[in-house]
Amino acid sequence: MLPANGFHSVCLREQLARVYLVDDYTLLIDLHKRAERQGPGGSAETRRAIELAGLGNSDPIKLADIGCGTGASTLLLAQSLNARITAVDFSPEFVEQLRYKAESHGLSNRISTLVCSMDNLPFDNEEYDVIWSEGAIYNMGFKKGVEAWKRFLKPRGLLVVSEITWITHSRPPELQQYWDTEYPEIDTASAKIGILENSGYSPIAYFVLPECCWLDNYYRPLQSSFPDFLRRQGYSQESQAIVASEEKEIALYERYKSHYSYGVYIARKLD
Ligand code: SAH
Repeated sequence: MLPANGFHSVCLREQLARVYLVDDYTLLIDLHKRAERQGPGGSAETRRAIELAGLGNSDPIKLADIGCGTGASTLLLAQSLNARITAVDFSPEFVEQLRYKAESHGLSNRISTLVCSMDNLPFDNEEYDVIWSEGAIYNMGFKKGVEAWKRFLKPRGLLVVSEITWITHSRPPELQQYWDTEYPEIDTASAKIGILENSGYSPIAYFVLPECCWLDNYYRPLQSSFPDFLRRQGYSQESQAIVASEEKEIALYERYKSHYSYGVYIARKLD
């Protein structure tokens, strides 16, 4: 994963601070909003997390899906669970796509949307049974996120969160340096689980997203969308720079995929 301009790889605010061009934000939204997902993931993996979390289809629950994007996980959660879902993202454009999809799947009555930053959520203490977040918590940082969101969970509530993770003990210096700049919080699963333990959670399960979640579900569809995106943008220099940067991110993943992935962490809030 690269600094690129992929939403999953770098905090959007950070990107904006770096490039300081609102135009780039508009371009990024235009590139990503038609996609099924805005980061690596998969339906099978969302289902696996549901199962590992022990979430059945019986008792009604309240769930918040934070950094929902256009709703790949939200829609599946709404179909699979007896849940009232609050889907949160700070991009109104993504949320609009989600609302449209929820409507056309007949799921609007289960999903309410909120355009809001994940570090300033207007939720009540102990409001939610489950907090779900796929490929998004890096935007505020894993430690800060799991600590901040804990108060929104009921006692013994569940946290399900995916986070970029080292899957080998050591790695090439080039890759390490890259991530030290992009997301210094990248770490091993044991370190992430330690953070959960130290933040008042009891870890229940962890698994690694397989390669298909990156390539088949995210990068390949993104690459197929480049020609239309460039055409829509009149092949502007900015749009070409965005494509180049996404391609760089994809090449980095293809080269070093044995060293990193997203880990999916499932934990219960302690009483
Ligand atoms: N969960 C989705 C999207 C992952 S990409 C999926 O798996 O497809 C990360 C998402 O986080 C993007 O939709 C982006 O708009 C959102 N995001 C980035 N910073 C945010 C913030 N500070 N608050 C809320 N959402 C944010």
